[in-house]
Amino acid sequence: MKIKSADFVMSNSNVTNCPKDRLPEYAFIGRSNVGKSSLINMLTQRKGLAKTSGRPGKTQLINHFKINENWFLVDLPGYGYARVSKKDKKTFQKYITDYFLERIQLVCAFVLIDIRHEPQKVDLEFMEWMGENQIPFCIVFTKADKLRPKAIENHVNDYLNKLLEGIWEQAPLHFITSSSSGMGQEELLDYIDGLNESFFKETL
Ligand code: GDP
Repeated sequence: MKIKSADFVMSNSNVTNCPKDRLPEYAFIGRSNVGKSSLINMLTQRKGLAKTSGRPGKTQLINHFKINENWFLVDLPGYGYARVSKKDKKTFQKYITDYFLERIQLVCAFVLIDIRHEPQKVDLEFMEWMGENQIPFCIVFTKADKLRPKAIENHVNDYLNKLLEGIWEQAPLHFITSSSSGMGQEELLDYIDGLNESFFKETL
């Protein structure tokens, strides 16, 4: 897919205020510093795009960008646990869970994982929550330029094996990316392109 246009549309904290357009939507999410802004800018080839939403005060918001006038890229800033009450189980921030449970336009979410890190509890639990709620997602490993090819392979295999030791019978689809080198850009955009095609076929 060639990126012809990428425009910031809106930021808000409530899924009910998200754009009403029936366009296919893809959400990007991960812990802060995972490389999400860099990845969004790399994918869209717009250096400052994700910074628009990154300015102070905008960190807890759902940010919509319209790409090529026919799909939305959604920047969902860093997740973490929110404790609802002392006796309740830990859960994720409500604006994030509401977004995923209610946004029917969402075609696929991309959960970003720093390729150098061991599996972290919060990421594993977030993916588990996505699975339990039947929200389609892929893993996007970031910062692959920081490792040599053999180490990339080992880290990815270890990570996916860890998922298979948990609740997963099959590992989620994954992409290996680097915002510095552009690795993974074509694969990710082509994947989105294919899903868009199916989305528009089904809604015709
Ligand atoms: P965010 O908080 O998830 O939006 O993360 P940022 O995109 O702001 O990136 C966090 C830090 O990681 C910054 O210092 C980036 O320069 C660095 N970074 C992000 N992506 C890459 C990458 O692909 N390769 C390398 N080497 N550094 C990266």
